[in-house]
Amino acid sequence: MRHLVLVLGDQLDRRSSALDGFDPACDAVWMAEVAEEATHVWSHKARIAIFLSAMRHYRDWLRAQGYTVHYHALDDPQNGGSFRTELTRAIQRHQPQKLIVVEPGEWRVLQTLQQVAHEHQLPLEVRPDRHFLLSIAEFNRHVDARKTLRLEFFYREMRQRTGILMNGKQPVGGAWNFDAENRQSFGKAGPGLVPLPIGFTPDTTTQAVLNMVEERFPNHPGSLQVFDWAVTPEQAEETLDDFIVNRLPLFGAYQDAMWTNEPYLYHSRLSSAINLKLLDPRLAIQKTVDAYYQGHAPLQSVEGFVRQLLGWREYIRGVYWRFMPEYIERNALSTIHPLPSFYWTADTDMNCLRETVGQTLRYGFAHHIQRLMVTGLYALLLGVHPRQVHEWYLAVYVDAVEWVELPNVYGMSQFADGGLMASKPYIASGKYLQRMSNYCAGCRYDPTRATGENACPFTTLYWDFLQRHEARFADHPRLGQQVRNLRRLSEADRQAIRAQAEQIRQQDSGK
Ligand SMILES: Cc1cc2nc3c(=O)[nH]c(=O)nc-3n(C[C@H](O)[C@H](O)[C@H](O)COP(=O)(O)OP(=O)(O)OC[C@H]3O[C@@H](n4cnc5c(N)ncnc54)[C@H](O)[C@@H]3O)c2cc1C
Ligand code: SF4
Repeated sequence: MRHLVLVLGDQLDRRSSALDGFDPACDAVWMAEVAEEATHVWSHKARIAIFLSAMRHYRDWLRAQGYTVHYHALDDPQNGGSFRTELTRAIQRHQPQKLIVVEPGEWRVLQTLQQVAHEHQLPLEVRPDRHFLLSIAEFNRHVDARKTLRLEFFYREMRQRTGILMNGKQPVGGAWNFDAENRQSFGKAGPGLVPLPIGFTPDTTTQAVLNMVEERFPNHPGSLQVFDWAVTPEQAEETLDDFIVNRLPLFGAYQDAMWTNEPYLYHSRLSSAINLKLLDPRLAIQKTVDAYYQGHAPLQSVEGFVRQLLGWREYIRGVYWRFMPEYIERNALSTIHPLPSFYWTADTDMNCLRETVGQTLRYGFAHHIQRLMVTGLYALLLGVHPRQVHEWYLAVYVDAVEWVELPNVYGMSQFADGGLMASKPYIASGKYLQRMSNYCAGCRYDPTRATGENACPFTTLYWDFLQRHEARFADHPRLGQQVRNLRRLSEADRQAIRAQAEQIRQQDSGK
């Protein structure tokens, strides 16, 4: 054999650079389902299922196109269960002259591939991932040219570089962002009827995977009761089209809003399809921008969506590869608390967390603000060790792949990287959740109170966080005001808050 072309579970791109120059006479594709990937961190059943189902559909497509595919299924009795054992077995059997792979989405996987190639004295060719608009080398050049790393500058450069939503050198609409218009809540009346996103009934391939996951991973968190995710490029594009027609117009305005029993609201639900490389982000950007020029969606929504894909997604990926493996060791706030056990069960009387974790376990999904300002915020305020927070996020979401999950958790949510990515920690009291959702209306706690029996734990922990980090953030340009508010509290109040926070920590002391 000439080339063994390795296709990993999140590389299901039909235009993959790994397939360039493929010669069916002397090359073959290798794909493996390995139990290790579902267990090296604890994994939601729906997360395991979406990867395996999408992989099997990709395998079938490759075979239909005439590619030879050596596919190691999880239920193959000879499956050794780890990436290393399966790849070693394939190399011994096929004796390729070279291994080819697209840039993996995880540092650990790249190390394993390099080690295995080295052990067999085989060249490993790592090809670029076409699903990103910017290469890792280009991102590094961007970083080298600056003192501080900030999304806003990176995003503007990406707009200028690509010409997306640009009028010559100026942004369309005269502004780079419309954040001020994009923070609306639904008010007491609620969201009304939000169009349900399109879902897909499992076909026989997906159903076989669902049955296997239930059988092989019965104790894993989460449910497969409502599994309707896109697992093919055709379904991914239908999801995109459905989003553009039905939800894009209000995406911007309600990007930050939350509501009970509304897991998706106006969000696109495209992250898993994009991360598995079923949907090219360029197509998503192009179709949403077309919707603006055709007058179907306002600029605030279209720019808000483009910012996520052209800005955040590319930026986050650059940060991951620039700073790994040192990045995962960071813990700038020196936190030590264990993750509360209710993150795995939703068994808590805090309504916002019960709703968000419950929905996460049901669907393997929560939208951005739920991840950032409910589960993420609580862990940040409580002072959970970032590694435990990372392992939870990597486990529970259908779109979780380390390159995107880790910087979002360490950089955006937990401030564990010390401000490398975000200029300040995203902290807020329960009053923020009261404003942006209806969770507090159904809760036994009072978001306005920091102490006493009905005090909201978010509010108590918010003031406690400020006290614990008072010196660090006193002169911070964006947090200084919050520290000055803290300094208006009497010493007795400050002490009562500290005592109540300590009680919460004792109750929430982990598994
Ligand atoms: C603590 C935390 C953990 C996260 N973990 C993940 C993760 O494991 N995988 C993941 O894909 N996203 C993650 N995100 C980012 C974001 O929450 C999800 O991409 C989004 O909620 C997915 O829903 P959607 O497709 O409806 O997105 P929309 O709100 O409709 O956004 C459109 C697309 O933009 C991209 N995008 C949006 N925000 C981000 C972001 N912050 N970083 C990178 N891409 C973004 C996604 O591809 C998304 O599909 C995390 C965010 C936080 C705060
Ligand atoms: S009162 Fe506090 S705990 Fe209850 S839902 Fe509101 S923010 Fe969450």
